[in-house]
Amino acid sequence: MASLQKVQTYLAYWFQLGKPIILQHRNTQCLPAPLFQGGKFSMVFNRCWQQILECPEQSFLQGTDESIADLLSDEWEIEGCARCTMPLPMPVRGIKASPCPCADLPSWPNETVPTPRPAVCSHAHLDNLRDRLNQSRMESSR
Ligand SMILES: [Zn+2]
Repeated sequence: MASLQKVQTYLAYWFQLGKPIILQHRNTQCLPAPLFQGGKFSMVFNRCWQQILECPEQSFLQGTDESIADLLSDEWEIEGCARCTMPLPMPVRGIKASPCPCADLPSWPNETVPTPRPAVCSHAHLDNLRDRLNQSRMESSR
């Protein structure tokens, strides 16, 4: 069984490629942005997650047949896709019938764009960036 955290990470990866979650019970879809705040999932992500949990049986990542309820059941695990290394639902027993969500993204896999990643500490990232900028400024003013 895929843990809650695994399923959240799975969604976060695909959200970063612009794939929304379809909330059939609300007759809407959801693509939270920003995904992360301070190294954790953002408020908007958590709000979206709450809406998913209202009815996980009717929440599907766009282009997939497995509901979030399925993924949270014993029948499914989250593995890496062989084609694109993105997290992908795999049945614990038997063979997967439907393709990876990457199947309808002709531009994916794309090695020229940054690979989506799990929640990162954006503070550390920004500090890093600022240090690098300061450094190059100091070097160019010499
Ligand atoms: Zn794939």
